[in-house]
Amino acid sequence: MFELTSPEEFFGYRMGSDRKIARWDKIVEYFYLLQDQSDKIKVNKMGPTTEGEPFIEVLISSSENLSNLEDLRRVNLKISDPRGLTEEEVKGLIAKGKAVVCQSMSLHASEIGGTQMAPELAYDLLSRDDEETAKILENVVFVMVPCFNPDGQIMVTDWYNQTLGTEYEGVMLPWLYHKYAGHDNNRDAFQTNLQESKYVAEILFRKWIPQAYVDHHHMGSYGARFYIPPYCEPFRPLADPLVYREHAWYGAHQAYMLEEAGKTGIIGGAMAFPAWGHFGWHRITNHHNIAGMLTESASAKLATPIYIHPDQLVGGHYSFPDYAAQVNFPHPWEGGWWTLREIVEQQKICSWATLDIAARYKDMVLRNAYLKAKRQIERGATSKTKAYVVPSNQHDSVTMCRLIEKLLVQGIEIHIANEDFTADDVTYPEGSYIIKLDQPKYGLIKSLLGRTFYPDNAWTRDQDGTPRRPKDKVTDTMHEFMGVRVDPVECMIEADLTKVCEPVWPDGGLEGESTIGYALDPRLNDSFAAVNELLNKGAQVWRSTVSLDCGDAYFPPGAFIVKGVDKEELERVAAEKHVVLYPLSVEPESTAQVSPPKIGLFQRFYGGNPDEGWTRLVLEQFGFPYVTIMDKDIREGGLHDKYEVIIMPDDSEAMITGKGLEESAKARGHPLPNFPPEYKSGLGEDGVEALREFVRTGGRLVCFNASSEFAINAFSLKVRNVLKGLDTKAFFCPGSTIHAEIDPCHPMGYGMPPEGLVFLWDSLAFEILPSGENDYYETIVRYGERDLLESGWLIGEEKLKKKPAMVVASVDEGKIILFGFRPQHRAQTHSTYKLFFNTLF
Ligand SMILES: [Zn+2]
Repeated sequence: MFELTSPEEFFGYRMGSDRKIARWDKIVEYFYLLQDQSDKIKVNKMGPTTEGEPFIEVLISSSENLSNLEDLRRVNLKISDPRGLTEEEVKGLIAKGKAVVCQSMSLHASEIGGTQMAPELAYDLLSRDDEETAKILENVVFVMVPCFNPDGQIMVTDWYNQTLGTEYEGVMLPWLYHKYAGHDNNRDAFQTNLQESKYVAEILFRKWIPQAYVDHHHMGSYGARFYIPPYCEPFRPLADPLVYREHAWYGAHQAYMLEEAGKTGIIGGAMAFPAWGHFGWHRITNHHNIAGMLTESASAKLATPIYIHPDQLVGGHYSFPDYAAQVNFPHPWEGGWWTLREIVEQQKICSWATLDIAARYKDMVLRNAYLKAKRQIERGATSKTKAYVVPSNQHDSVTMCRLIEKLLVQGIEIHIANEDFTADDVTYPEGSYIIKLDQPKYGLIKSLLGRTFYPDNAWTRDQDGTPRRPKDKVTDTMHEFMGVRVDPVECMIEADLTKVCEPVWPDGGLEGESTIGYALDPRLNDSFAAVNELLNKGAQVWRSTVSLDCGDAYFPPGAFIVKGVDKEELERVAAEKHVVLYPLSVEPESTAQVSPPKIGLFQRFYGGNPDEGWTRLVLEQFGFPYVTIMDKDIREGGLHDKYEVIIMPDDSEAMITGKGLEESAKARGHPLPNFPPEYKSGLGEDGVEALREFVRTGGRLVCFNASSEFAINAFSLKVRNVLKGLDTKAFFCPGSTIHAEIDPCHPMGYGMPPEGLVFLWDSLAFEILPSGENDYYETIVRYGERDLLESGWLIGEEKLKKKPAMVVASVDEGKIILFGFRPQHRAQTHSTYKLFFNTLF
């Protein structure tokens, strides 16, 4: 073997040096160089990222282990799913197996420390010649994701270098650091919309199922220096309790080694990192029987040091009220210069400690992996709910398949019924899916498919009863988000079943021939994708304004009628989108023509708006053409010549207009970053007036969630948000699924069921104010009457009761569509996509 090149030799500086960020392409090059120089490292290119950069997985272990990797992987998978094994066999597997530990870096691209640390961690593991290192290599297979978000890493590095030496040095990136998701990439773990998520899901959920996973992040600059496991309250149930013991166990060793190395300001089990947060990577892993953990380093100004006065250091969380020594924070940092090098060092020690303890207790780690799986299987076998059934007769059967596909990405075992069967006195048709609970991922399945209630207790409220804002949304019930019926079943299912590796997509195609035209089901989200593609091919498309009988099929109002495309093309598109085109034998009695929509999507700076990014992704997934428009494009005016529809993603009025933005941020004690003037945005009065002109002359303005507030004020609509200004004790709904009634006969409600779930998070409920213009307003969706909460947390249900949730206001020639809820949230709420898509046609 060759002499190893150190990072310092390769990059020309020590990792984390002041004002130096190694760029992803160089880091990849370095890992490949290490692979050439050592037989203890393997670089596996998973594929391209969203924007075409290499996404790599790095494996580090002894050369013997690496030459035996596939065997070790299989052993590990058996331990993780011990069904059918005897205790003796398990013992044999544990003796043969190695602890598998995965750590990932810089998912959030502005949190640069992890990816800068990774080359040095790898070098140390390969070059250190001591017993501790030898033990790690012998007993652990280390699966490293040196950069979870390479696209963002490159954006941030280039941005930093561009601002270096200017007054903007160290300021955060003014736009999203992932093409679609920005910071929300950590909210994609359960729906895996992003390419990077698909790679990491493969590593964590199906290929390896490591015993421990650590995701390295950064936090604010003015508190503790380093947050490490365990989490703080509130607790999230359904994972095996051993994982919570493991967080504390790994965390204690990390703290121990950090303290030993003389690092100060280390805190565990506190700060704003609760066990029940979003179901992001480091949390969802717990429900996969992986000890899922995160670390959070205090940030410098990217690679620029920050000076912190001792009196600027603060606590400010219920679990860390004051910046002072406490049991889990025995050694406060005293202030001074804080640098990227410090971050690199603390993360490296922490990563090392995680590997070190797994190596020292390899057999115990594997034994507990076995126990976690075994106990979860037993819980599933003895729980009241024995399985979830996904009936094949669904409102939208293609979206059902998409749900099954996403559950399979999680590595959940799913069967399909080869015959009709009865369970709990309900008869289910052949082709229904069955997800049994007596499998290792029991806790995950129940979290994704079982009704979920966020705790309402002393950990989630202040003493005066004020609810504490949860870390993120409070339910992740996938079928509720997607509008797919899933039934919990209490009996054992007796039927002929086959295990599936992928969903059985409906056969798309032509159901016969017609010289008049073909009809498409308005209830399928994918009908919109098919229509967009056919419009692209020159089809003429209408929507039937009344229900439609096509012999074999009966459609509610809104069915698409397609003409003018040759048969081969129709067949190809229908097959690709899994939709059926039904031949018409007579002209439908009443139709309205649909043209390819000219869509403008509003985008801003100030760090970007993830809701805008996700909206782009949804539009692309369903083939809607769109143009991104910035505030300057809007201020130019003449909008209606260019667009029929303008979409305003969820955003505050201040962010949209820019009015009072900097002042109010300063007043709240959180001044906005010092962005260069060209990256400050806001419509200003000119922009608002241009939007008014757009609507007056016939444009449609579609507003999601908080941006509805902007439209209400900018257009002086006779609508009021009844939730505005309410005390959180009176009303609070931080990301929950809520029952609503929908008008499926209104063109904007076409294809929807009359009742469904909508997703509310800091959302609105409307009241149409009495005026001489009552008839200018229409309600498409209203909240239900009682028992409104399906999953999540809702305080003050009566405030929502029967209130309009989606309103269309006619303003001169145009329309404003107000969504009080989030119809396309994070590309997850498929259930309400049609309400959004209908506004575009
Ligand atoms: Zn982060």
